[in-house]
Amino acid sequence: MPTQETLPGTAQPARDRGLWARFVDADGLIIHSLWMRACAEQTYVGTCRRCGDHLRPERPMQVTATRQDYEARCVRPIGTCGWTCNAPGGRVFRGSSRDRERTKGDR
Ligand SMILES: [Zn+2]
Repeated sequence: MPTQETLPGTAQPARDRGLWARFVDADGLIIHSLWMRACAEQTYVGTCRRCGDHLRPERPMQVTATRQDYEARCVRPIGTCGWTCNAPGGRVFRGSSRDRERTKGDR
């Protein structure tokens, strides 16, 4: 881990926007236990791609027995921003090239 915890209010480079890496495992899946803890503690899980404010996690929605959809919402209300980050099935779509591109061509 090259970086320390980011302090609230600290501007982050655009490439770090979206869900923070510590909530996502090497396969690009949300780490459920950390996500649930963030929900319980009402801490943030990411940076808004649109306005750069923080993203607050929602409790995952159980879609099927094996699938949960995750959502994180910008702390700014709809009208101000209201951007939502979706992770269907816990899979995070990050635009970064560093990730293994396994999202296309599903198994
Ligand atoms: Zn926003």
